[in-house]
Amino acid sequence: MSTLHKAPALTIGKKAKAADFHGLAAGELRAETGSVATGLAATGLAATGAGPDSSSKAAGARAMRRLRDAGLRTTRQRLALAEILFGDGLDRHVTAESLFARAAGMGARLSLATVYNCLHQFTNAGLLRIVTVDSGRAYFDTNLSQHHHFYYEKSGELSDIPACDVQLAQLPAAPAGQRISRVDVILRLDAAKPGSDPEAAD
Ligand SMILES: [Zn+2]
Repeated sequence: MSTLHKAPALTIGKKAKAADFHGLAAGELRAETGSVATGLAATGLAATGAGPDSSSKAAGARAMRRLRDAGLRTTRQRLALAEILFGDGLDRHVTAESLFARAAGMGARLSLATVYNCLHQFTNAGLLRIVTVDSGRAYFDTNLSQHHHFYYEKSGELSDIPACDVQLAQLPAAPAGQRISRVDVILRLDAAKPGSDPEAAD
């Protein structure tokens, strides 16, 4: 980055088209099927729907491991949310509201404030990364690798763009004594994400 100067400009590789992310969207939709039952049952939260099965046990174990590896105590609230976020190993973007709705739909008894606090605790522990689309809308991203985003304005959803598909040709030099720590590119699409349900955006 230190070799980059002058006015900002970016070029988008030909692979970074919305159509290429239909598969990702499908993956994210698949990820919405519940795997939180084990954690909820194990922690005394009411679970709705089918009881724990082997996949939900694996999800619970994965969530537990992520919390412990990050040095976080495994409270029942954290475990329930971590199971939704990390249980299936797929990348996802959530807002506090969308995660709250998902958890509530699975029978977890959590307040929105608790969800918000947990998301920030996860972020501070290095489990999530915040993507700020505008001042009033923060997304929490389980994908910690360097990458960029499409933002679907009609449904309020994000899709990942691989870092290699965005080439930043010119950037202004950082102010004296400052260092550019990261560059986030958000490409706004005047559309809803294919196959999305805006009411359940995440
Ligand atoms: Zn992302």
